[in-house]
Amino acid sequence: MPDDPRPPLGDISPETFRRHAHEVADWIADYLAGVGDLPVLPRVRPGDVSGALPASPPEEPEPLDAILRDFREIIVPGTTHWNHPRFHAYFCSSGSGPGILGEALAAALNVNAMVWRSGPAPTELEKVALDWLRDMLGLPGTFDGHIEDTASVGNLVALAAAREHATGGQAREKGLAGGPPLRVYASEEAHSSVRKAAMVLGLGTEGVRGIPTDDAFRMRPDALEAALAEDRRAGWKPMAVAATVGTTSTTSVDPVPALAGVCEREGIWLHVDAAYGGSMGAVPEFRHVLDGCDRADSFVVNPHKWLFVPIDLSAVYSRRPDMVRRAFSLVPPYLMTPEDGAARNLMDYGPALGRRFRALKLWMVIRAFGTRGLAERIRAHVALAAELAGWVDGAEGWERMAPTPMSLVLLRHVPRPGVSEDALEKHNRELMEAVNATGRAFLSHTLVRGRFAIRVAVGNLRTTREDVEEVWGLLRKKAGEVGG
Ligand code: PLP
Repeated sequence: MPDDPRPPLGDISPETFRRHAHEVADWIADYLAGVGDLPVLPRVRPGDVSGALPASPPEEPEPLDAILRDFREIIVPGTTHWNHPRFHAYFCSSGSGPGILGEALAAALNVNAMVWRSGPAPTELEKVALDWLRDMLGLPGTFDGHIEDTASVGNLVALAAAREHATGGQAREKGLAGGPPLRVYASEEAHSSVRKAAMVLGLGTEGVRGIPTDDAFRMRPDALEAALAEDRRAGWKPMAVAATVGTTSTTSVDPVPALAGVCEREGIWLHVDAAYGGSMGAVPEFRHVLDGCDRADSFVVNPHKWLFVPIDLSAVYSRRPDMVRRAFSLVPPYLMTPEDGAARNLMDYGPALGRRFRALKLWMVIRAFGTRGLAERIRAHVALAAELAGWVDGAEGWERMAPTPMSLVLLRHVPRPGVSEDALEKHNRELMEAVNATGRAFLSHTLVRGRFAIRVAVGNLRTTREDVEEVWGLLRKKAGEVGG
């Protein structure tokens, strides 16, 4: 059926919308059911997608049938499938059914919860959903949460609050000129977003000091204390310690209780970046990874990583919401409302004024899976990773490159003893690329103390034991085929 003749102005008709919405719903259901049969990495080269699209926009209206056909024929084949059961690169992100429905409904409402009256339900649901998440992870009731798009922005928001704290609330007016230089302390394994936040906050990358780690890649509290003493003598003012629960390279967990002790003694803000690892708190027997986080001043976790909420949604908690507001609240006359003071205005909690309704998908995911269902899924991923780790440990010619405290396995193939590090890197890069070229799985890499390691992250909602077995089989097969 062709689209209805277009009125000169206004939206497409409800009938046209309904017809295509049904078609899109069917497409999504089929896509999710069959995503495992698609190549995880698309078979495209840079420029292929843009080259298949017209350089200028259509002057006349185009029917949605044609637009959706191009979506299927050009966009989907040019997409990396993060929803794929054998997507094991980076950290996984899964678009679950309830989360996708939440996204669709949020787009339909198109509400912008800048201030309470511009979005009462989104503002209040954000609080409810983040309180649920906080309780589900075993974090203290004193943590006040709000949503940002990503952990990078969450870390920025937390460190901006820390900057106010360190300057006695002066940074927002005076900036940093005239005061002592501020410094953030994070382990050498901390995510690059901590350094980026320092760049944005005017500290510069030299405003972050990397603290050495122990043999399990955890920040060393003794090295932190030594660095603080040395820096204080040199005129630096310590602004924050940014600990990580689940580092990006190896999922190591910094010793937060010891770091909290140092911060409490020294009066320094403690931030915890638990973007990936925080979700482990949903599983009672793994909650110990968050030990000490109740003493943090701020805490970030990404439900879009390991809680099956489609990207993007990062939860930012703080025991000092006054400092978060101090860093970000700036209310012009046109945004003042009668509810000010009586209700929360989300614009006061971060750099953006506009706020899309992200809480809906989180709330729907938590309700649709239940806290027990979420815990069972995470528990299953940890068990699958442990199983893979065991296969690696038991196989001749394979090395596990770091402990596996969560659901990430780091490995490399050593074709024979005595091969140089350079040759091992080349061999394992080729091995990883050979696996990725099959389209059956997507793996990524990191450097562990300078040594190349293949990362196999298990965390996708749709991953089964057969998927992990297939990846291990592929690795072994390709290891025999690539040069080395
Ligand atoms: N922090 C850690 C520990 C991470 O692993 C990552 C990404 O993997 C980030 C922060 C950044 O996350 P986002 O992509 O949400 O900015």
